[in-house]
Amino acid sequence: MANLGYLQVVRHCNHLCGFCSNPTTPYEHDFESMQLLVDDFVRRGYFGLILTGGEPTLHPELPRITAYARQQGLHVRLITNGTRLADLAFAQELAAAGLQLAHISVYSVRPEVEAELRGTEGTLERAFAAADNAHRVGIDVNVNCVINALNADHLDENARYWIAHHPQVRHFVWNNLDPSMGRAEVNQQRFTPRLADFELSLHRALRLLHKTGRTFRVEKVPLCYMADFAWASTETRKIVKGEERIVFFLDDKQAVRQTDWEHVYGEACRVCTLREICGGLFDRGSGYDPAELYPVFLDRDTVVRRIIEDPADPSFPLRNIRDWRADFKQRVRAAKARRRLPVAHEAPPVGKLTDRGRRRFEAKRRSEERRAAAQGIAMERRPQGEQPPE
Ligand code: SF4
Repeated sequence: MANLGYLQVVRHCNHLCGFCSNPTTPYEHDFESMQLLVDDFVRRGYFGLILTGGEPTLHPELPRITAYARQQGLHVRLITNGTRLADLAFAQELAAAGLQLAHISVYSVRPEVEAELRGTEGTLERAFAAADNAHRVGIDVNVNCVINALNADHLDENARYWIAHHPQVRHFVWNNLDPSMGRAEVNQQRFTPRLADFELSLHRALRLLHKTGRTFRVEKVPLCYMADFAWASTETRKIVKGEERIVFFLDDKQAVRQTDWEHVYGEACRVCTLREICGGLFDRGSGYDPAELYPVFLDRDTVVRRIIEDPADPSFPLRNIRDWRADFKQRVRAAKARRRLPVAHEAPPVGKLTDRGRRRFEAKRRSEERRAAAQGIAMERRPQGEQPPE
């Protein structure tokens, strides 16, 4: 199975998105603490590593940990806002270290919308330059887009722009907003979309990408809002293939191993034919409403076949539906039994808490509070145990 691990390299950022779900903490990594986590992924037989944040390009050891992970045989990817990658020399340095794929995140190709969402002016041009630089130095480029209340009506415009101006981008990831953590949790009213707000523009975007030969994945969107492209749901693909993810959070959560992709379901799900392979409503907070769900009556196995027979994704070994059904039944039974057992998960410590880290956190927090106040957005709750200095 193609399991991918996430490693949060830093938690600070050079942007100030009002819906950031992983904002600044006092924890820090040095090369050695990251190395331990890379080794842990290798020991578990993981296929790849996703370096993320915060904004991971702000860590001075990013090229070094990239090179180390490649030497250990991992496929290495980066999720970035692109601001630093807009410098060609930095893109070259990451390429030389062995970085294989950069996910560049852009929410809206409308400059005024992007600036409002980023809390920072001038980021869009740099993200476009990053996409071109990465391609130039031989790093594959994907575009990530967080679906939110301000871009919900023009996701298709985003897709059209990328196709016309940056044709080298062949893969897109659409992430519905996670309203349960960080600044997203305290700014739900302003940024959390209703599912119906983006249904049409997402459908148009996916149809356009499909028609022009691009590939895509969609995260945290219940299948009833993307039924024609149910096979592109990352939760559905993980349920069908039985994949897991580990996230090394650079905060008190530390190592989180996700093996269960089922979230919240509503009354409508009881009669829905896709229930067994649908992740439901991603809502650990209360940003979405189960009443927004409606049942679909499509053939489950048609969606499953599309995933297990996908020639571009050979990661699942059972390529026919009969074998899959038997395997799936057995996995569902095992998962139910597992839920009754205590979860044993051993992993190395994630990052370090030091006095220097705490001082940096306080300084960063003060400057972010000033910027947030100027934009009229609320700051995330302080990490547990980190009280403001007297
Ligand atoms: S009704 Fe429920 S199970 Fe069916 S697609 Fe929607 S969220 Fe998924």
